[in-house]
Amino acid sequence: MNNTFDILIVGGGPIGLACGLEAQKDGLSYLIVEKGTITNSLFNYPLNMTFFSTADRLEIGGYPFPSIHPKPNRSEALEYYRRVSEIGELNIRLFEEVTGISRQGELYLTSTSKSKYQSRYVILATGFYDIPNMLAIPGEDLPKVKHYYYDPHYYYKQKIVVVGANNSSADVALETWRKGAEVTMVVREGELGRIKYWTKPDLENRIAEGSIKAYFHSSLTAVRENEVDIHTPEGKVTIPNDFVMAMTGYQPNFAFLEKVGVKLSDDFYRYPYHNPETMETNLPGLYLAGVVCGGMETHVWFIENSREHAVKIVQNILKK
Ligand SMILES: Cc1cc2nc3c(=O)[nH]c(=O)nc-3n(C[C@H](O)[C@H](O)[C@H](O)COP(=O)(O)OP(=O)(O)OC[C@H]3O[C@@H](n4cnc5c(N)ncnc54)[C@H](O)[C@@H]3O)c2cc1C
Repeated sequence: MNNTFDILIVGGGPIGLACGLEAQKDGLSYLIVEKGTITNSLFNYPLNMTFFSTADRLEIGGYPFPSIHPKPNRSEALEYYRRVSEIGELNIRLFEEVTGISRQGELYLTSTSKSKYQSRYVILATGFYDIPNMLAIPGEDLPKVKHYYYDPHYYYKQKIVVVGANNSSADVALETWRKGAEVTMVVREGELGRIKYWTKPDLENRIAEGSIKAYFHSSLTAVRENEVDIHTPEGKVTIPNDFVMAMTGYQPNFAFLEKVGVKLSDDFYRYPYHNPETMETNLPGLYLAGVVCGGMETHVWFIENSREHAVKIVQNILKK
């Protein structure tokens, strides 16, 4: 087996795949190594999730993404990226985790859970969906506290607390309420946050009519088996509870980036250093692509505006 490539791409999300297609187009050898299934983050999105982007803006490698909906859903996106991978004959290994990357002379040596590879260049397209932002409150380790949400059916007749007020929280609150859950939202700010324009009025109306209860300027302070404590402007409120949906966002694997040697900014955002023109990090020949670039600012990069990273990186490699 040939284990030496021009480019080793870590992560088989939409942007890792885009990098593979771009390398292939320009005649560079490459391997994509993905620790889960293909487009693992999308696979773990909520079952009924709809993208806010239109299908054309999610396309990679020039392959058209036909969808009968104005905005495609999770199943269509999975179908699309899997078919692109198949038709494009992408060189990808699945269920293989990259555990370390080091420099050996002119080459990078990448160790995985199954093998070792050498490459002249490395692209980290590792996303941010594997590590949830924790609430850091007592009881968060109880199994009833969820950081990922899949299917509303599960929560029928359950008392749900939804933490957060952005897209994911709005979807969870509305979907579970419509499937018979009793929903309370706990929102740190004084108003709802970034929510798809067609979803926001629905949630506002459900809150206004009292179908969904919302505590604003409030935070969840403790979770117990059958109840939770909420700190509100009026003082502490304790309510009965079956499940907590902590939709508080996710963060890149900073420990992995630091282990590889990528510099992070010292502030809260922990931006991984990269030249925005070339996407090259402080390590020569090691690049960042996709949403990992934003550090803690995970709402800056999307598929639609980070697919261009693939072109920037491959062009820079070709110049070298
Ligand atoms: C609910 C939701 C809705 C969204 N809607 C939109 C939208 O409408 N439009 C849009 O443009 N964007 C949207 N986004 C953002 C977009 O889907 C993600 O940003 C997209 O997945 C980014 O692609 P990526 O390839 O950079 O990262 P990911 O898709 O997260 O891919 C990273 C991959 O790297 C793998 N990986 C991580 N570490 C390792 C390792 N050590 N070894 C091997 N593999 C590893 C992961 O398993 C993962 O498959 C949405 C995000 C969410 C959460």
